Amino acid sequence: MKTKNKIAFSIGILLIVIASLGIFASRSIQMIKLNTENILKDNYNSVMYSQNMLKAISIFDSDSTAAMNLFVKNMNLQKHNETEWNEKQTTKQLIHDYDLFLKVKDAGSRLRLESTINSIIKLNTDAIQRKSEKAVDSAHSVLFYTILLSLVSTLIAIFMLLRFPKMFTSPIKALLEGIIEISNHKYDKRLDFGHNSEFTDVAKSFNNMAKELSVFQESSMARIISTKQYLETVINAIKEPILGLSDKKDILFANTAVTQILNIPTEKLIDKSALDLSLSNDLLRRLIRGMEKGSDKKDSDDDKDKEKDNDSPLKIYSDNKECYYEVHYLPLSKNSGTVVLLSDVTKFKMRDDAKTNFISVISHELKTPISAILMSLKLLEDERVGNMNGEQKELAQNIQDNSDRLLSITGELLKMTQVEAGVLHLNPKITKPIELIDYAINATRVLAEHWNCNIEVDYPEDKISKIFVDSEKIAWVITNLLSNAIHYSSENARVIIGARQLDKKVEIFVQDFGKGIDPRYHKTIFDRYFRVPGTKVQGSGLGLSISKDFVEAHGGTIRVDSKPGEGSRFVVTFNT
Ligand code: ADP
Repeated sequence: MKTKNKIAFSIGILLIVIASLGIFASRSIQMIKLNTENILKDNYNSVMYSQNMLKAISIFDSDSTAAMNLFVKNMNLQKHNETEWNEKQTTKQLIHDYDLFLKVKDAGSRLRLESTINSIIKLNTDAIQRKSEKAVDSAHSVLFYTILLSLVSTLIAIFMLLRFPKMFTSPIKALLEGIIEISNHKYDKRLDFGHNSEFTDVAKSFNNMAKELSVFQESSMARIISTKQYLETVINAIKEPILGLSDKKDILFANTAVTQILNIPTEKLIDKSALDLSLSNDLLRRLIRGMEKGSDKKDSDDDKDKEKDNDSPLKIYSDNKECYYEVHYLPLSKNSGTVVLLSDVTKFKMRDDAKTNFISVISHELKTPISAILMSLKLLEDERVGNMNGEQKELAQNIQDNSDRLLSITGELLKMTQVEAGVLHLNPKITKPIELIDYAINATRVLAEHWNCNIEVDYPEDKISKIFVDSEKIAWVITNLLSNAIHYSSENARVIIGARQLDKKVEIFVQDFGKGIDPRYHKTIFDRYFRVPGTKVQGSGLGLSISKDFVEAHGGTIRVDSKPGEGSRFVVTFNT
């Protein structure tokens, strides 16, 4: 039965019970009222008439006419008010006794008449008593049935009260539970509210939805699984080691190459905590440390450091040989994890080492013949050997300049190979910055004079702290900066060299007012062999990159502030 019909049916029953209760109660009250009225009307009147007749008898001796009138009047009234069984007979007796009394008028007939009247009174008072007892009985039974009906309707009302809310809430509760199950991805949940309920439609729609979701889940699941298998195949086919980590550093996937270099089988990697595994695996520990460093750097946005980190390859011993890997950390969107990609750069590293080695050997080997050329040139210039004419002198000068340049380039190349081979030995000692500045000024004196360059020194002696550096290397750096400043300025230019104290740091700077450097190249001028396009002055493009390596090896920094057309200011900073 539908809920609507159930409610209508129950309320209908309740209405019928209440209506019957009302009808029954009003009819019963009406009946009791009628009974009571009858008692008053019939029996009470008979008693009154009888008492009037007794009164008439009592005044008969004194006023016979009035007494007779009174008696006859009441007797006639009594004649028309015979309600009780036997009352008609007694009234007839009364008429007879009255006639007899009128005829004989003795005490006997009088007594007899009075006795008959008393019989009528008794008859009616008995009836009154009987009827009032009946009325009381009726009232009792009315009361009983009224209470009974009230009880029945109360029970029905209680039943409805208990049943109706449940009738509505239980399907809603079941529906709510179903929705929670669905939201927990349990799509096999189904609802059943019976056949004759409005909720059947709701259940039908719910079950359809759950079925479709389950079909959708299965198809998406199948798609996800096939995509996963596809990705796994691709990842395993890649020769480069790849490791996927979740945001909690659990290993999501690892290809064959990574399991080989980590020396851990796949089943011991997948879904395991990389942090736990890293306790017993050195390589994994280094990868995680690098990842944490990388994310710290990302936070601090230190591009220079990031580049440096990416530049230094990771050395791994695999298959009893040294391998080099460049590590790339690819963060997934919304910080949901990281993919660690290792590119094998062993071949490049070996080639690079070979190149460095080659440059080192060549530079070293070239130094001796260049020195020999310079020595021979010196001898050639000696007048004891013979006089040279003007043209020969010019040619000799040319040989001298180029040999000097070759010597400086081989010197720079040697320094670079030192850095690249990682054999840069520092011999630091406490040094006054002014000593480095003086060295640089002396080293470039000839050049400055040649270009008629005016070198100014800005050095507040008492304010500058000493620094702990390898003075030979840093003097070379400052000389290189000063020589660049002279080279890249016009003739008769002005160059300022000096130092500044900055809290616990000392800055040594070289400022020129030459052509300046385009901001696009402020970073790249510190790269190996880089020269600003269009630079006419001869050079190797190595000076600044070696300077940077030397300065950073001391824990210092080097930077340039420059605007095209306004000049450049190179600043080297050291901790004191
Ligand atoms: P090199 O001077 O031998 O070319 P460096 O590494 O010292 O190599 O300099 C790299 C490049 O930076 C130079 O080729 C030049 O273009 C630019 N550069 C260096 N110093 C200055 C300067 N003071 N003014 C303008 N450009 C400069």
